[in-house]
This record gives sequence, C-alpha cells and structure tokens, in this order.
Amino acid sequence: AKIKEVEFVKSSNRPKDCPKDDRPEFAMLGRSNVGKSSLINALVRKKEVALTSKKPGKTQLINHFLVNKSWYIVDLPGYGFANAPEAARMDWSAFTKGYFLNRETLVSVLLLVDASVPPQKIDLDCANWLGRNNIPLTLVFTKCDKMKGAKAKRPDENIRDFQQLIRENYKRHPPWIMTSSVTGLGRDELLLHLSQLRNF
Ligand code: GDP
Repeated sequence: AKIKEVEFVKSSNRPKDCPKDDRPEFAMLGRSNVGKSSLINALVRKKEVALTSKKPGKTQLINHFLVNKSWYIVDLPGYGFANAPEAARMDWSAFTKGYFLNRETLVSVLLLVDASVPPQKIDLDCANWLGRNNIPLTLVFTKCDKMKGAKAKRPDENIRDFQQLIRENYKRHPPWIMTSSVTGLGRDELLLHLSQLRNF
C-alpha cells in the first residue's frame, strides 16, 4: 500500500478533459481549511507535491496526481468559502457534480470532514447528495488530534453525530477513517483502505 512515487499529471477544467485511461482514482474533497493539503502531504510524505493555489474561487480545477504509476489521487477544489460570492459557489457545484456523475474510473470519493467541529450543513449536504446519487463515499475525518475545552464536543461525538445525520441517504454505512496530519493517525489505515478498494 506504500506510496513510492507521485507525479502531477494535469489540471482539468472540465470532466471531459481528465486523463483518458482506465487507472482507478480517488477524489479528495472537503471544505476549505478542512486539512486536505496537509493530509495529501502526509500521505505522500513530500512537501513538493502540494498542490493547488488556494485562492477562493480561483481553483476551479480537477488536479490529477498519479501514484506509483498505477492509480490517481484527484484533488478537487475546496467548497464553502465563507466569503465566496454566490456565483462561485454555484459554479463549484455544477462543475464537481458533473465530475462525480460522469467519471467512470472514480472508485470512491474521499470526503474530508473536520472532526474538531460539530457536523456542518455544507458537509452534510455534500455527503447526502453523494449518497442519493449512489456515488461511493469514504468519510475521512480530519484533525482528530484536536480536543476542545471541556464544554465542546469531542471528535468522536462529532463523528457519531455526522454519521447519524446522513444515515437515511445510505443503504450501508459508508466506510470511515479517523485521521490526523499532526500525529499521523489513520495514514496507514487510509492507504490500506484505498488499496483494498482498488484490489491491488
Ligand atoms: P486545506 O485548505 O483543506 O488544504 O487545509 P490545510 O491543509 O491547509 O489546513 C488548514 C489548517 O488546518 C492549517 O492551519 C493546518 O495546519 C490545520 N490542520 C490541517 N490538518 C490538521 C490536523 O490533522 N490537525 C490539526 N490540529 N490541524 C490541522
């Protein structure tokens, strides 16, 4: 399951510009600031690989990274920029939904969810939409090292609440993994999970 080599392949504006081969891919998706770049860097263990420019609304691109010459990690634009104009948000959803619905080599969406905060509507909306459209989902909870003060909810409660709130849109619970880019929690488990989904 080890990552030996990662190669940036291309940025695509439209689903139909994506690489045309049948290697399996995993799309990483989440709210801006969820810790996606940190997690990709932790998985890949290389700082240089990173990644997209992070300006809100400027990264409407699907970025393909080829791993070990055999499968792709796809970095999708973050959603839910607090200060993005409504138009940019609409663009995001048309663009990304087109990718999910049309990309035949997509094995699973990896939806990153910040475990240090209670479930957020935009993340729930996203998970529910994927479930209703039968798009395979893995929930990747980030920042599981973060414990707030005594009054705040603990990450495990946030995770349980999140799963409860999406239940009716899934026949089976989506697989889920707890991660932290600070402690390395979940890194090996996530890589193993991806290799099992790919079947090699
Ligand atoms: P992105 O916008 O989703 O790519 O998020 P980044 O990877 O840039 O991370 C956003 C912020 O969260 C940064 O300040 C990171 O240092 C912090 N962060 C990311 N991952 C973790 C984590 O696992 N634990 C903690 N405590 N902080 C994290």
